[in-house]
Amino acid sequence: MSNCYVLGNRVDALTLAGAVSRVAGFIAAGTPHHVVTLNAEIAYRACREPGLQAVINRAHLVTADGAGILWAARKLGTPLPERVTGIDLIQALAAEGARRGWRFFLYGAAPGVAGEAAARLQREHPGLTVAGTCHGYLTPGEIPSLVEAIKAARPHILLVGLGAPRQEYWIAAHLEELGVPVAMGVGGSFDVLAGRVQRAPAWVQRLNLEWLYRVLREPARVKRTLALPKFMLAVLRQARERG
Ligand code: UDP
Repeated sequence: MSNCYVLGNRVDALTLAGAVSRVAGFIAAGTPHHVVTLNAEIAYRACREPGLQAVINRAHLVTADGAGILWAARKLGTPLPERVTGIDLIQALAAEGARRGWRFFLYGAAPGVAGEAAARLQREHPGLTVAGTCHGYLTPGEIPSLVEAIKAARPHILLVGLGAPRQEYWIAAHLEELGVPVAMGVGGSFDVLAGRVQRAPAWVQRLNLEWLYRVLREPARVKRTLALPKFMLAVLRQARERG
């Protein structure tokens, strides 16, 4: 199955298991790699923000985090095998990492949250090594010491939960200097793992209505959700131009 381009953004055609083995390959190679989990909102923003699109297309792995991306891929005639969300990928990597001795570093979210998320992952995946955590509200002047702390901790996988696209820009700016084999943007996943934000019930996820659930719980999200119809129209236009 070949990769697909949704509004100019590359999305890799992989299952969750395929994404995990791709990441294992990055760790074996040892050189720095950037992993993006792409949703419709960011895909739409990137098609209007060339700097963001360049960051996404330079990433070593881009997964389809969201029903919108899967829908778009089908419309464009390049269907993707399945959704690979940030939270599912974190869980799968933690399971694999506990077996293989990978070290994780969690950076992002409000003070205390990354530590709680790490504790939850360690409870669910006994043997998992967390090399460090840091909250996501540092001042610019504090970033150099964070970078030093991450380098000293030598994680195999750095999870960055600053929200998209802040985390994508941050990873792109610091990846080489950090030298971590894998840096992955995870949005609000630490809040979910720490139990601060509930994920939608499974039946809501199956109906592809997770976005509606999130808007109802956090009405401030409504503006962001308005990107969805714009994304859909842009995809239909792209499909028509191709067809
Ligand atoms: N966040 C952060 N630093 C910031 C701004 C946001 O660490 O300067 C965190 C915030 O606490 C939350 C996450 O980034 O944990 C953003 O979550 P959201 O669900 O909005 O992001 P998405 O999953 O939509 O990218």
